[in-house]
Amino acid sequence: MTEHNSANRDLFDQVMVPNYSPSAVIPVRGKGSKVWDQDNNEYIDFAGGIAVNCLGHCHPALVEALKTQGEKLWHLSNVMTNEPALRLAKKLVDNTFAEKVYFANSGAESNEAALKLARRWALDVHGADKTEIIAFKQGFHGRTFFTVTVGGQAAYSDGFGPKPGDVFHAEYNNLDSVKELISEKTCAVVMEPLQGEGGIISPTNDFIQGVRDLCDQHNALLVFDEVQTGVGRTGDLYAYMGLNVTPDILTTAKALGGGFPIGAMLTTTEIAKHLKIGTHGSTYGGNPLACAVAEAAFDTVNDPAVLAAVLSKATLFKDGLNKINDKYNVFKEIRGKGLLIGAVLTDDYQGRAKEFLNAAMSEGLMSLVAGASIVRFAPSLVIPDADIAEGLLRFEKAVANIVKG
Ligand SMILES: *Cc1c(COP(=O)(O)O)cnc(C)c1O
Repeated sequence: MTEHNSANRDLFDQVMVPNYSPSAVIPVRGKGSKVWDQDNNEYIDFAGGIAVNCLGHCHPALVEALKTQGEKLWHLSNVMTNEPALRLAKKLVDNTFAEKVYFANSGAESNEAALKLARRWALDVHGADKTEIIAFKQGFHGRTFFTVTVGGQAAYSDGFGPKPGDVFHAEYNNLDSVKELISEKTCAVVMEPLQGEGGIISPTNDFIQGVRDLCDQHNALLVFDEVQTGVGRTGDLYAYMGLNVTPDILTTAKALGGGFPIGAMLTTTEIAKHLKIGTHGSTYGGNPLACAVAEAAFDTVNDPAVLAAVLSKATLFKDGLNKINDKYNVFKEIRGKGLLIGAVLTDDYQGRAKEFLNAAMSEGLMSLVAGASIVRFAPSLVIPDADIAEGLLRFEKAVANIVKG
């Protein structure tokens, strides 16, 4: 207790910018889907660092890659390329629609690259009038000023002065609302192929196919933000694969590094050629240490047995949550795909998702919310079935506590 007393939650308020409000619990160690705090209390992790820790904590393959690369070469800058970046890019190209890869360090930066590429492609190919970007209400694309403006919650982009222009928002799963906005001036439609932060909302087949068709009719690029859905989360390597709709640009981050910061933008050769030398870049992007860890994460997840297990584990989750709901009747819907799961609170519990998260934490379970009324789970893709069972038991206790009041 005594050694860690100086690094406590009070210190956060003293020395950190107050843009976050973290839990009082300070985790110090993790293994698989378990985490321990400063007082050695154990938690089951159904949060996965917000869909990042696709292989749980300290997975041996990732630790090995980190240690091996850590003793070889950490950083060069893009004045030189490096072996881990080349190998990872080749694997991304071999396993997706993409022919070219740009590396960044986060989801927002990957999207920033996608948006700038779409604008530059449109300028080069179609002229200066094709600048409009259509995105979706409740969508989330990161916190840079461009990505937060493209995101569908004005509350995140208001209050910072003039926003990047020509960004419009349609309604998710409402093709007519896209038709109203799209024209020859549209350079790109940007969307999550399953809205994450916005409430775990899956697209209908007609909608997502319809958006693809509208993009084709109007010579607009379709950009899929797979920052949350990518790298096995939905049971497919990338969610687009399960939707039979292929984007022109795809962004991936979160799970890509399994906990090490990295992001990437994937596209075709024809589109990529418009990001010519000097048009865009990043000091860290494609850093050998990040790429070595990401390569190990990608190899481990991109295994038919691991991806198939995501779906069987998802069934365990949904069955367990439905059983809890049969007893306590707190959810009106359990939704999502693979291990990106949303439990939507009934009208009686509107706005109280954070209370469920806190009650779960008290029972030794880490979870997430997606908005004020949805409890979200995004655990490790390789979480042991026994940890799912134990975590659900703890969640049931939390639910019981809230229902009792
Ligand atoms: C988390 C997220 C982002 C932002 O990623 P950062 O790494 O936080 O910049 C962008 N898009 C989606 C869909 C996300 O879930």
